[in-house]
Amino acid sequence: MQIDKKDIRSLSKEQLRDFFVSNSDKSFRGNQVYEWLWSKGAHHFDDMTNLSKETRAMLSDNFVINHIKVDTMQRSEDGTVKNAVRLHDGLVVESVLIPTNTRTTACVSSQVGCSLDCNFCATAKLKRMRNLEPAEIYDQVLAIDKESRLYYNHPLSNIVFMGMGEPLMNYNNVIKAIDMITSTEGLGMSPKRITVSTSGVPKMIKKLADDEVKFKLAVSLHSAIDEIRFKIMPFTVNFPLAELRESLEYWYYKTKSKITYEYVVWKDINDNKESIDALVKFCKYVPCKVNLIEYNPIDDGEFQQASEQSINAYIKALESYGIVAKVRRSRGKDIDAACGQLANKEA
Ligand code: SAH
Repeated sequence: MQIDKKDIRSLSKEQLRDFFVSNSDKSFRGNQVYEWLWSKGAHHFDDMTNLSKETRAMLSDNFVINHIKVDTMQRSEDGTVKNAVRLHDGLVVESVLIPTNTRTTACVSSQVGCSLDCNFCATAKLKRMRNLEPAEIYDQVLAIDKESRLYYNHPLSNIVFMGMGEPLMNYNNVIKAIDMITSTEGLGMSPKRITVSTSGVPKMIKKLADDEVKFKLAVSLHSAIDEIRFKIMPFTVNFPLAELRESLEYWYYKTKSKITYEYVVWKDINDNKESIDALVKFCKYVPCKVNLIEYNPIDDGEFQQASEQSINAYIKALESYGIVAKVRRSRGKDIDAACGQLANKEA
């Protein structure tokens, strides 16, 4: 029965080679199949034209290839593309293609729903249903790369793990997916073009540093005052800023890679001098830059974007200490593709 068959992409190259040897075939057959599965993105064993009919039949007797299906694709008036991606078990995640004049960025999901509980984020309302497999993350990137070539005439240039889910709560699968994306046996993309964004899980940030990863790190900070952060991101009660700070210092000490802080300024929450001073102080601990993200309302009315004036006050204060701060305007708002809006509205 189909259900009992293993997804062949859960096997490493070594395991595939061993599989062929234990079935009285040559180990290099494993390399061929691996290439079909990853760099050529085959969806069916019958696509593997350099294998005999018997070999293909033997593979489909033993395995399935679970691949994603782009159910619906919406295109925003600003060129942003949002894919609703159906997984083999029927669940849906979303990924986004964000074009600018010089590049195209894929924003991919790492979990179905999210393990965390940020009050301002639509994905958090879904709760975590399951982690994505490495191949499911990889396939989102492949799908967006294809769309980038089709609509913008060039391959995908960057990837951000800023879709649904908390990447560091699906650590192993995210790392495996990035290994494939950066491997010459996969997409051969430079890790410098990949950013993993976390709400800030100190233990896992330290693990990234120990694992000597080469991609960039972004942290969704939103406040440098514990009491405020506890309120808007309740899970942080277990990860206070002192611990986050320590993990970021460790990250920088090990990787020498600057951190990006993502920060939304909300009316009556963090649009005050105390919050600005706290952020400036926090930014001095580790080399960093700040992205001030525009708030995308999520239908509950609790949070409101702060005034232009308050945002300018942040920029002025940060810049006076030599900290680079940029305002990130939302993209794809009309199709609910902007930060924090991914929640399968039509699923
Ligand atoms: N869990 C990870 C990855 C998700 S990234 C993380 O939190 O970093 C999504 C980014 O959008 C995060 O910076 C998040 O804080 C931000 N975000 C969430 N809801 C938002 C909203 N409604 N408007 C603007 N940004 C939002």
